[in-house]
Amino acid sequence: MDIHNRAGRSAEDRHLGMVEVTGSNPVRSIKFLFFISYSFRIFNMRALVDKVLEICEKINSMIGACSRCSRCCYYRIPILQEDKQKIANYLGISLDEIQKTLSNGYIEPPCPFLEKNECKIYPARPIVCRMYPFLLLNEGLFLVNINECQLAKEIYKKLGGEEKTNVVKVSLTQLEKLLANELKSQK
Ligand code: SF4
Ligand code: SF4
Repeated sequence: MDIHNRAGRSAEDRHLGMVEVTGSNPVRSIKFLFFISYSFRIFNMRALVDKVLEICEKINSMIGACSRCSRCCYYRIPILQEDKQKIANYLGISLDEIQKTLSNGYIEPPCPFLEKNECKIYPARPIVCRMYPFLLLNEGLFLVNINECQLAKEIYKKLGGEEKTNVVKVSLTQLEKLLANELKSQK
């Protein structure tokens, strides 16, 4: 299945690369995805990021299929200045102290905040962790690691995905529909 951009899209749609779920995707490695996500111009897209983040977080919690395997805590995670500030506040330490641990803009694996398979900064975890298994890049929004992540697998199923694939590009419209369906079914 090819990626089909739809005609008549808004500027925001175009920025997000609004596409139907696709079976084939040139991006194969989650490590690569995380790497390029660092170049993602987050501060120029604040409102959009917040919207996507909110929808992704709601879907993740409503689908509730996370097996708590912690696999997603063993990648190199890009971390933003606002993430660092949030973590410092949560842990009650100075930003300087956090800067020392996370000096190069990444959480290096294994994540230092993972203890006995639990995230010890869960309420203050970085944006990339909150959005996972979704990943927002300049190229669009992706559902990643479908073969390894129970939550991603379940979301993919609910999106009607059938082809064997590990990464698919998804649209915000699809996620809004999925969220609406989940809300309806839980009433
Ligand atoms: S989000 Fe996926 S990879 Fe991460 S802990 Fe849950 S099931 Fe495992
Ligand atoms: S911050 Fe928490 S959720 Fe993110 S990688 Fe570390 S332990 Fe996992």
